[in-house]
Amino acid sequence: MGETFDLLVIGGGSGGLAAAQRAAEYGARVAIVEKDRLGGTCVNVGCVPKKVMWYAAELAHGLVDAADYGFAVERRGHDWHALRQSRDAYIERLNGIYARNLERRKVTLLQGTARFVGPNEIDVDGARHRAERIIIATGGRPDVPDIPGANHGITSDGFFELDACPRRVAVVGAGYIAVELAGVLASLGAEVSLVVRRDGVLRNFDAMLREVLHESLAADGIHLQTQFVTCELRREADGTLTLCSASGITLGGYDSVIWATGRKPNVDRLGLEACGVQTGERGHIVVDEWQQTSVEHIFAIGDVTGRVELTPVAIAAGRRLSDRLYGGMPERKLDYANIPTVVFSHPPIGTIGMTEHEARERFGEDVKCYTGVFTPMYHALTSRKRKAGVKLICTGANERIVGLHTIGPGADEMLQGFAVAVKMGATKKDFDDTVAIHPTSAEELVTLR
Ligand SMILES: Cc1cc2nc3c(=O)[nH]c(=O)nc-3n(C[C@H](O)[C@H](O)[C@H](O)COP(=O)(O)OP(=O)(O)OC[C@H]3O[C@@H](n4cnc5c(N)ncnc54)[C@H](O)[C@@H]3O)c2cc1C
Repeated sequence: MGETFDLLVIGGGSGGLAAAQRAAEYGARVAIVEKDRLGGTCVNVGCVPKKVMWYAAELAHGLVDAADYGFAVERRGHDWHALRQSRDAYIERLNGIYARNLERRKVTLLQGTARFVGPNEIDVDGARHRAERIIIATGGRPDVPDIPGANHGITSDGFFELDACPRRVAVVGAGYIAVELAGVLASLGAEVSLVVRRDGVLRNFDAMLREVLHESLAADGIHLQTQFVTCELRREADGTLTLCSASGITLGGYDSVIWATGRKPNVDRLGLEACGVQTGERGHIVVDEWQQTSVEHIFAIGDVTGRVELTPVAIAAGRRLSDRLYGGMPERKLDYANIPTVVFSHPPIGTIGMTEHEARERFGEDVKCYTGVFTPMYHALTSRKRKAGVKLICTGANERIVGLHTIGPGADEMLQGFAVAVKMGATKKDFDDTVAIHPTSAEELVTLR
């Protein structure tokens, strides 16, 4: 028999680490179970390695533009292997920092796979541990289509294991991960097809963002293949891969195919039947606004709940939950409205709140949009031209801003401050009354007419 804790957290990713450490800071006796490397998806196969690759891709674009700014530089190649080594070493340092953070806060790390054996009892590789409360923070993993030959492709996890840039690659999927991986690969030298089922990428994003992004993808040489429902992935005699569509079209000659077709929650081997926690249609753990599951003392946070699958959301939900359970803050919970998010495309996208389509569905005629599409000053001198765009979605007599969308250089860093304003209920007049910062792209957002 193992130990008894106040709180047992399953999953040492973004949400689990945040919840465990916050509870321990309040004096709770906490254990966290992790079967793999600390830091979870974000640190090991998500945000962090992805952003490193994005920086490399931005530099590749910068090298092209440098000549237009008077530099005598020439791009002579790229050492993917060296980049991977530095990236992996950085991640290893982060893994170590996470372990030390747990030690410092006296959180017990149980390395192994957790499985419920009762409502208050968990088995970790043969040892049983009990706890008064349990948080499930097991995240998710890439989903692969259930079609013949799917195993010939890789997922975003496999992308981070690549030791060289593929020569010719197809990225299948229309979500942000597909767009980001395609962008990195194209900038670092691959010939890229982005293969989507419908009319384009980022279908839930505002139309202005999609239009500007589609132009950029084309300008970067990414072949966008629309209306392609993949029904088979075939390995040919020469070793290349061919994608076959339901309507009989084939796309071939790839040395790598990456599935970026969604993610599924890690619940299947958790033994949920032993504790009675219920899951929804797509397998996510069902929680109420307090992150509580169908069992009173069991909670779930982060990607496993399927609600806004982002690192800061998992962290915020975890910290607030521990504040409520152990910090004497009975009303503390995460407000899931107006969560800002960035797509690390080239150029990046920053977005918060409703799209124009969503606002018109909700408020009907009472919606006013302000849009600006322009060439950012950086590109005034470059032969590589890319557009940028900003858009405000307003509603009501006072024109409250319910959506803010931006694409262009710096959009990723620009959004956080604007998100504070939108969250506080800023109006168009508040933006108009703010003096612009010149010359920037951000000033376009406070000078829209
Ligand atoms: C390619 C990619 C890029 C991304 N980029 C961004 C980004 O730029 N910004 C952003 O905000 N988000 C990004 N995300 C999403 C982000 O990574 C997730 O939202 C976040 O990691 C969710 O945190 P979590 O704690 O819910 O789960 P995870 O971080 O996935 O952690 C879950 C942990 O639980 C462990 N686990 C699972 N089952 C068990 C078990 N039975 N026993 C023990 N341990 C178990 C897993 O090993 C894992 O370590 C990206 C994701 C991907 C895949």
